[in-house]
Amino acid sequence: MAPITNGAPAPKKRIAVMTSGGDSPGMNGSVRAVVRMAIDQGCEAYCVYEGYEGLVQGGDLIRQAQWEDVRGWLSEGGTLIGTARCKAFTERPGRLKAAKNMIDKGINALVICGGDGSLTGADKFRGEWPSLLEELVKNGDISTEQQKTFQYLNIVGLVGSIDNDFADTDATIGCYSSLGRICEAVDYIDATAFSHQRAFVIEVMGRHCGWLALMAGVSTGADFIFIPESPPDRDWEDQMCDIISKHRNLGKRKTIVIVAEGAHDLDLTRISPNKVKDLLSTRLKLDTRITTLGHVQRGGNACAYDRQLSTLQGVEAVNAVLEATPETPSKFIAIIENKIVRNPLIEAVKSTQEVAEAIKAKDFKRALDLRGPEFAEYHQAYMMTTATDQPALRLPKQTHMNIAIIHVGAPAGGMNSATRAAVAYCLSRGHTPIAIHNGFPGLVRHHADEPVGSVRYVQWLDVEGWISKGGSEIGTNRDLPSKVGMGETADCFNIYKFDALFIIGGFEAFTALSELRKARPDYPAFRIPMMLLPATISNNVPGTEYSVGSDTCLNALTSYCDAIKQSASASRRRIFVVETQGGKSGYIATMGALGIGAVAVYTPEEGINLQMLGRDIEHLKQSFAKDKGQTRAGKLILCNEHASETYTTEVVASMIREESKGRFESRFAIPGHVQQGGTPSPMDRVRAVRLAVKCIQAIEQYAGKSKEEIMEDDLSMAVIGVKGISVVFGAMERLEREETNWNHRRPKDESWLQYKKTVDTLSGRPRPEDCC
Ligand code: ATP
Repeated sequence: MAPITNGAPAPKKRIAVMTSGGDSPGMNGSVRAVVRMAIDQGCEAYCVYEGYEGLVQGGDLIRQAQWEDVRGWLSEGGTLIGTARCKAFTERPGRLKAAKNMIDKGINALVICGGDGSLTGADKFRGEWPSLLEELVKNGDISTEQQKTFQYLNIVGLVGSIDNDFADTDATIGCYSSLGRICEAVDYIDATAFSHQRAFVIEVMGRHCGWLALMAGVSTGADFIFIPESPPDRDWEDQMCDIISKHRNLGKRKTIVIVAEGAHDLDLTRISPNKVKDLLSTRLKLDTRITTLGHVQRGGNACAYDRQLSTLQGVEAVNAVLEATPETPSKFIAIIENKIVRNPLIEAVKSTQEVAEAIKAKDFKRALDLRGPEFAEYHQAYMMTTATDQPALRLPKQTHMNIAIIHVGAPAGGMNSATRAAVAYCLSRGHTPIAIHNGFPGLVRHHADEPVGSVRYVQWLDVEGWISKGGSEIGTNRDLPSKVGMGETADCFNIYKFDALFIIGGFEAFTALSELRKARPDYPAFRIPMMLLPATISNNVPGTEYSVGSDTCLNALTSYCDAIKQSASASRRRIFVVETQGGKSGYIATMGALGIGAVAVYTPEEGINLQMLGRDIEHLKQSFAKDKGQTRAGKLILCNEHASETYTTEVVASMIREESKGRFESRFAIPGHVQQGGTPSPMDRVRAVRLAVKCIQAIEQYAGKSKEEIMEDDLSMAVIGVKGISVVFGAMERLEREETNWNHRRPKDESWLQYKKTVDTLSGRPRPEDCC
């Protein structure tokens, strides 16, 4: 049967979307994005229910989806179109039926959100497509005309899996939500373990992939981890007991060991939680318990990152469908560091399978290599920040440095995690970490009125529990060196013999580093390496597209908005205008809007004007008029605190109320400092660890160099940043000159600005040109 067009021009494409394999948080976000983007682009959207089972059975399991059908889906857990493991699709007759069903419905493109199995199946389906069509013609199931019309099947993969086991992408949809569940559970267990001085062996998911176990280890500061890609040495039992004993001897009251489901030793003999427990109980005499987290790890709604990822990748999948030619090989949508990219599906499927083969062949180096450089860096960062007192890691004495650590600006989730990692790394290399308490005012106040002093040597146990602590344990302050006195600051650098400075903070920290750089010619004390790790909820530091703390903020904002949305939906005809922080950067507002599905977002970059408000109010009127009560998702507008001096959040809400003429209500809400978040998100924790270790590694390169050599090297004062697909150090001098919008305290180019259009597209917000 040919596609039905009813005389109207045929739609560009019929794009079907399905979820398959194990469910993962964020799948609904990708379905919503594919459906809405497809409709926006003049295509028809279809949902295939129950994974490949729906494709094989056809009928009502493949249904057209309308714009309103996916309203409110971003905040829902699991997958609302269902998923299944389908035996029939693994065999040719099943795939033949699937092909027939697709042609019957006129579908010529398929977006599949699933794990490696699902995408392997998709790849096979596309490879076989011409022969399936031939067979269908031979059987008389389709006409030769249909065979011609549907000769190319367009397939795009979205990787939805909590395991993060797919090659050529840094993250899969759902993996950070799952990691969030694990961290939450371990944080709870931590408290009871500490109270009773117990040991806990925690089993997490991951049969062939240790990502969850590794990241859980990094983000909870676990004492030991077991992952399939990197089995422990032959003497692992001694090694583990040795490390845990050392930690206990240093004063640690609790022990956490994380075991991936698929953990094994070098001979592929399983390392079970029971085996680990027995060792800890018998050898170390620790009161040890086992916790198996199980399906809790899959559950619940998606974290902010997975909502953004699934949305942006869903949009990109539709773009990939529309731009594909018959020659384009199947692609899947990946993310590398901070960039959404299209990667070849076949190669990634192959590499993914190769990991399992490498493990089976006991080629663990290859297995780790295949996991990619990010995985290897996290692994290294974990080892370097957990193992205490390992002679192999220590640098020669003459290269040891006094490394000062300072927090500047407002607190942000992950500042403590970064500090802990820096301290642990310094100690494992033989450096002396020195914490400056309460920022630059703390530094210069050193001996006058503080009994303990604000500049303190830090020991491993001091920072051991900081990985999951929000705020700033050493205290942070906004005051700049110029305020407390350049001379006094330089004097303190000399008094404490700082060989390097590690700054953690936001735009204030950036400004402080700029001041110190400019003062270098006058103050030799500042001719030392200084590295800045951007940490601010506003994500407005030049030199990076990601600041530690911004993810925690987005999670807090998303939870807040979910609750508000519920209230808005309960009374149906209500819109909330929510004010976000972010200074003069609209990052938080925009990414928050993307993750919550806001009807509009107002940013300082764009400002607010009357026409814009008029258009949005008109859009709201139409939207409320269309809603006959069948959907109950509430509506939100996100408005940055500095989007407009005149049209404040309250004014915007009042204008909407006035103009609605009683057809709907409008309220405003200000989450304020709630946005700093409580405990840091897992992403902020792990990235803080990785970036902090990289900063200290960069600092180490200057050991033994003269002040002149350091002065001459632009990169001796730098900002570490995630930029596109890379992690890079940007020289302060260049960043100040080329990349900083000093007036508005934000980078000149903000990569996320492009996502504002996506917020508008997916909310159906009218474009200015459509209204004139
Ligand atoms: P998860 O990562 O959660 O396990 P997954 O996508 O890897 O997700 P699988 O059970 O491996 O989950 O695959 C889901 C479905 O994809 C299978 O039930 C089957 O229908 C299809 N599938 C998997 N592998 C193949 C294959 N080699 N050929 C055809 N279809 C396949």
